[in-house]
Amino acid sequence: MTPRNILFDWSGTLVDDLPPVLEATNSVLQHFGREPMSRDQFRRSFRLPFSGYYEEHLPGVTLEELDPIWHRAFRASRQPVTIIPHAREYLEACAARNLRLFVLSSAPQDAVERQAAHLGLDHFFERIHAGVFDKRERIASLLAEHNLATHDTIMIGDMRHDVHTAKAGGIRSVAVLTGYEFPEVIATAEPDLMVDNLDVLHQLHFS
Ligand SMILES: [Mg+2]
Repeated sequence: MTPRNILFDWSGTLVDDLPPVLEATNSVLQHFGREPMSRDQFRRSFRLPFSGYYEEHLPGVTLEELDPIWHRAFRASRQPVTIIPHAREYLEACAARNLRLFVLSSAPQDAVERQAAHLGLDHFFERIHAGVFDKRERIASLLAEHNLATHDTIMIGDMRHDVHTAKAGGIRSVAVLTGYEFPEVIATAEPDLMVDNLDVLHQLHFS
């Protein structure tokens, strides 16, 4: 069944921002005397909310201490942020059918808005809700704010946290395998649907 409203996670779902995120995270780790991580090491260990990740890898360091270091490195990074294959086509198909589209992301608001404008994606969204520390705690108020009926709304994301957020909001979840978490990891959250990429969802919803 095609939904009327879609909440999109941003990182790993619509854009690949792993290069600058990894660079910023490694800046934090190295600032506190830890070894930098490879892309796969990071994907294996990162999770949301990100406080849990840092508690594990930098015990005793507060978010207040590490946040400015991360943001400075993230802003300074020249690593590319690219649109994920099939994302634009899927968004265009949604827009052509007047679906209401939103972003719900933990990435910084200014970064998501800048990336959306740069990639020409900003006009697809009724609202971008970014910088959300714990999406599970935000979902109910977001659905209410925009008058989104739970049976007509889905959340698409690449991490267990996105699936948990959908469940917390009483909406269906779609897991995409284009992002941060490996298939066997996100599968443990038991999404309603798991697809390799947004082209698969495009076929399911619109053909
Ligand atoms: Mg994501």
